[in-house]
Amino acid sequence: MNIVLIGIQGSGKGTLVSSLEKHLDLNVISTGQLLRDEVATGSSLGKHIKEIQMNGGLVELDIVMDVLNKKLKSNNKKITVFDGFPRNTEQANALDKLAKPDIVIYLNLTKEVAVDRILSRLTCSKCGQIYNTKRINTLVCPNCGGKLEQRFDDTIESINKRFEGFYKDTYPLIDKYKKDNVLFEVDASGTPDQVAETCLRIINEHNN
Ligand code: AMP
Repeated sequence: MNIVLIGIQGSGKGTLVSSLEKHLDLNVISTGQLLRDEVATGSSLGKHIKEIQMNGGLVELDIVMDVLNKKLKSNNKKITVFDGFPRNTEQANALDKLAKPDIVIYLNLTKEVAVDRILSRLTCSKCGQIYNTKRINTLVCPNCGGKLEQRFDDTIESINKRFEGFYKDTYPLIDKYKKDNVLFEVDASGTPDQVAETCLRIINEHNN
């Protein structure tokens, strides 16, 4: 089963993935994280990716498909969750050929709440778990002991560019997936547990 998560930055896609992983055996394909992993190697490709991410632009499709395919090939799980892919029609068409989505969850959240969440977001440099500074008072990950830090691309300039890209290129996919009869809209303003519970119900109803 292929699940796609769509939502503006800060809508809680990464947090939802972590919650779902506690209940389901998942292969998670987070293109943003896979690209950040390449950045962390310090390779020349990583330097190129970092420059684009800092500006909030989209990394070229061939590079994204390359990291995505590598992760997909090593998959032996029944459920695959795509977080951050597809981001436009070109990517959605590529995904339809590769792994047609069975469920697309649109995490609906206002831009104002999303900005507030992003600016108080801390990510573990080791395990990738996401925290909110309003709910945690340490820079050490309670999950694995790794260092909690702000994402290098969580600057106001990059955030605004990513919002612009979302409404222009990603939002129209909602219509496509509605027509494909696979779209589920979820109110993302609730607590992480509430959002996860709603999404788990949707997934379990379709996973029999
Ligand atoms: P995210 O972790 O989803 O917020 O993504 C962080 C950054 O990684 C984005 O701003 C893009 O620069 C890049 N990125 C992530 N997913 C994609 C994608 N599907 N296509 C192109 N660039 C991407």
